[in-house]
Amino acid sequence: MAAFTRIAREAILERGAMEHPALVVVADETLVDEPASAPLAGRRDDTPVLLNVNAQSARQLSVPEPVFRADFTAMAIAATGRLSSLSTALAAAASRLSGLDEEHCRAGIDAELAGELASRDELESNLALAHDVYTLASDWTAVAWPDDADESDVVEADLVDLGLEPPCRAAPSIYASANSPARHTGNWRQYRPVLEPDKCNRCWLCFVWCPEAAITLDENEFPTVDYDVCKGCLLCAHECPTDAFRVERELGA
Ligand code: SF4
Ligand code: SF4
Repeated sequence: MAAFTRIAREAILERGAMEHPALVVVADETLVDEPASAPLAGRRDDTPVLLNVNAQSARQLSVPEPVFRADFTAMAIAATGRLSSLSTALAAAASRLSGLDEEHCRAGIDAELAGELASRDELESNLALAHDVYTLASDWTAVAWPDDADESDVVEADLVDLGLEPPCRAAPSIYASANSPARHTGNWRQYRPVLEPDKCNRCWLCFVWCPEAAITLDENEFPTVDYDVCKGCLLCAHECPTDAFRVERELGA
């Protein structure tokens, strides 16, 4: 998944993908050399890259400088016990590189998470994580923002009003079977779901939920994970009613 964030003091009149981002944040190092993902697309020679790397992995990455790297996943889990706090860690690092001071970063995290987290303690641990990241990044050089936005790439166009069609026309009918297993997304995985068969009640929920169709059923109707296809989203582990999937940090995808 790729997402783009625009920052400007003036009104922002563009949306969609950016042709030349000023800062690239890669949350999953395994995507760097993945041609179909191409997270560095549009990067200029001096565009900084913020890279979340697995400190235990010996993976060699071909990313030209300037690159700022750290194991933000490990930092997030150590600080909050939750993988979802990786977003907090990367947001803090990206804020630091963008020149935002820590106080404003904390205010943003507070505003974003206050309504989502179950307790003030969880919010405080996320704010402590942001502080740790700012400390880690204290000698990083902030992004040099261009003085003038490059308008040459912006295409002016009138909005098109598509109107409403009845569902029989607007909703597609798809009859072909899923082709997601044909795309081998196993090297995206940072975490590996490992089935513990003695906990499995063969409800098949994991089979139904897996977005990549990486789970099939064996002759005894137990789920089997195809690790060439499994991208490590852990939906299977999340939805399993008996916690039959053990989650392991991926070291060899
Ligand atoms: S982690 Fe589970 S749900 Fe996600 S792709 Fe792998 S097998 Fe499917
Ligand atoms: S969701 Fe859990 S219990 Fe159900 S089949 Fe999958 S692993 Fe087994």
